[in-house]
Amino acid sequence: MPDIDKIQSVVDSAYAQFSKTPGGANADYIPFLANIPSNLAAVAVVTAKGQSVAAGDAQYRFAIESISKVCTLALALEDMGRQAVQEKIGASPTGLPFNSVMALELHGDKPLSPLVNAGAMASASFVKAGSVEERWQRILGMQRRLGSKEIAMSDELNQSEQTTNFHNRGIAWLLYSAGYMYCDPMEACDVYTRQCSTLLNTVELATIGATIAARGRNPITGEQVLKPENCPCIMAEMTMEGMYDSSGDWAYNVGLPGKSGVGGGILTIVPGVMAIAAFSPPLDKVGNSVRGQKMAAFVAQELGYNLYKA
Ligand code: GLN
Repeated sequence: MPDIDKIQSVVDSAYAQFSKTPGGANADYIPFLANIPSNLAAVAVVTAKGQSVAAGDAQYRFAIESISKVCTLALALEDMGRQAVQEKIGASPTGLPFNSVMALELHGDKPLSPLVNAGAMASASFVKAGSVEERWQRILGMQRRLGSKEIAMSDELNQSEQTTNFHNRGIAWLLYSAGYMYCDPMEACDVYTRQCSTLLNTVELATIGATIAARGRNPITGEQVLKPENCPCIMAEMTMEGMYDSSGDWAYNVGLPGKSGVGGGILTIVPGVMAIAAFSPPLDKVGNSVRGQKMAAFVAQELGYNLYKA
């Protein structure tokens, strides 16, 4: 691994070159997200040994949104094991938008991927819990153990999502009718909506990735959060579906597992080495941060990381 000064200079250069790239627009189907200043931008690296560097608005706390799906998948794997997750939720890409109902038609209403809305709600329903509060606290607890104990739900964002999530409620009922919901479907949708409504900063996002990079051990707190054998499954899912219907382009261009959220966050992981996180609200057509993708991809390329490079 390059020394930390080199990583800092690459991170600074990614920010300088791409933090003002034009194009894209804030997500507006969630009213809270439409109002976040579009000019915010940050990029950070946390290494598997716990060193960190950042540039830009790295302390700004933004909505985790879909990146929460990685943490809930991690908890489902810990609770139920890799085989059960594959059978009861699925482990294949849909090739369709993250909230696609058509994707459910592909395989008898099986969600296929834990990293699209259907599979994420199925995952939330699959984790062990005796009540809605316990389900929520265990999922939030996983975000905190992977990232930082400062990660917390925004009541305002949650309210904004809970009052507009009709499409997700429809998906939850379709899954229920097909036998792919493992608790009450509205409980799963409620908890999924809360898990999307937590706020975190770019360094905390990179820490989530660094924990997965470091075989499940959070390099900042030292806690062994995940079984090492679950980490490759998480990264495989990120590679296949993490950037939604442009996951293939991300693999082709960057060659690392990635995950985006409509809050503007991007996370990409170099297994065993580090995670790179970036944030900026304007999104491209599939829902990935325009500047976040550029900043994260630049850091990976400049440091020479691509899993498919010999
Ligand atoms: N809460 C959002 C939703 O369910 C998350 C989607 C995303 O980030 N892609 O629509």
